[in-house]
Amino acid sequence: MRNNPYENFLKFMHKAASIMGLEPNEYLALEYPERELKVYIPLKMDDGRINVFEGYRVQHSTLRGPGKGGIRYHQNVEINDIRALAAMMTFKCAIVNIPYGGAKGGLTVNPRELSMGELERLTRKYTTAIMPFIGPEKDIPAPDVGSNSQVMDWIMDTYSANKGYPVYGVVTGKDIDVGGSLGRNEATGRGVTIIAIRTLQTLNQDIKGKRVAIQGMGNVGSTTANFLHQSGAKIIAVSDVSGGIYSEKGIDIPDVLNYLDKGRNLLEGYKGDFVRITNSELLECDCDILIPAALENQITEKNADKIKAGIIIEAANGPTSEEADAILNSKNVLVVPDILANAGGVAVSYLEWVQNLQGLLWDEDEVNDRLRKIMSKAFDEVYQNAMEYKCNMRNGAYALALKRLLAAAQKRGVHA
Ligand code: NAD
Repeated sequence: MRNNPYENFLKFMHKAASIMGLEPNEYLALEYPERELKVYIPLKMDDGRINVFEGYRVQHSTLRGPGKGGIRYHQNVEINDIRALAAMMTFKCAIVNIPYGGAKGGLTVNPRELSMGELERLTRKYTTAIMPFIGPEKDIPAPDVGSNSQVMDWIMDTYSANKGYPVYGVVTGKDIDVGGSLGRNEATGRGVTIIAIRTLQTLNQDIKGKRVAIQGMGNVGSTTANFLHQSGAKIIAVSDVSGGIYSEKGIDIPDVLNYLDKGRNLLEGYKGDFVRITNSELLECDCDILIPAALENQITEKNADKIKAGIIIEAANGPTSEEADAILNSKNVLVVPDILANAGGVAVSYLEWVQNLQGLLWDEDEVNDRLRKIMSKAFDEVYQNAMEYKCNMRNGAYALALKRLLAAAQKRGVHA
């Protein structure tokens, strides 16, 4: 049986709460999602067969604002994945101090097996099914694994068609032509890079020449690889679902990205000067910085002891199990947690939403400047909390979020 990611989230939250000396009563409400919707979507496939797909939208918390979180299209999606991802969004938005709660959606489907027409029809039917739940002031979806700006554009169009007027603010991560923000597509990877550089600065180290391994070459992995390469890091290994490639001399990142950019290409078809490795070998390779940027539960008690990186920047959500986290701690591996490291995506989603609601169009420098300020401040505040409670960065991040969430709960009186 696979590790339950919601249990993992709860263990991390409990650990931070106990370090802070909180009573269980004070944070009990955060152990439960506020709302969960499950939908079944019948879809006529191109060959005339009918398939029924399962989908979800979970709102973990609206304590600090409307729900916010991506939509995942993946064949293994289950309710506990979406529940955990929604809860992590609550904590992430609190850490970067943007006025959102946490939510997440998903469909149990392998999008690579659908034609574009099937994907569009499925997305539109899913949007209609969750329509009473979402809206610019209720819950605002965004891209996640397996979905992208095209999927967001279809959601915006379906929602708008039902309302009778364009509603850009219902979803973020849209194309620029339909209310998207400049800089959103690269925001998560840019944020991961800002956090990586900031982490090294606190250790009085430089990113230049650092050997980096990245698992996952989707939106987050590829943009992170690009920015870190531009910052002078040496990317020695990258991977995707088809496996990985490794070169001690450094991978030609612009060439890899150029290849992957074309259609639905995978690394297995890429040719060049490197050796092929598995995803497990990538995680365990000799590098300075390891960046999991694919799926959850990749670093577990089975491989944590074999990790050679001194620093792990969690670009993916939930890549490390609680048991593995304890092993990494005992080895003095510095782990920068997901709820801080990958928050650049939701930070720029917030900036997109603000532009949509106010009819503004910021240039890319303005968006990137705001992102840099948000991420740097969040890093410093997490670091201060880690110092205050004499704990690691993960516990510091959860502590910061708990403080903000409990302050909102106390002032709103929702526990009364
Ligand atoms: P994506 O669908 O664009 O890419 C996922 C990548 O992971 C692909 O390269 C895929 O081949 C690879 N992959 C899938 N299964 C794998 C496996 N078993 N082993 C190795 N690689 C595998 O998704 P994304 O948007 O880049 O998201 C990646 C991670 O980052 C997820 O955990 C997601 O929740 C998180 N995240 C994404 C965003 C965002 O803005 N897109 C923001 C915050 C966090």
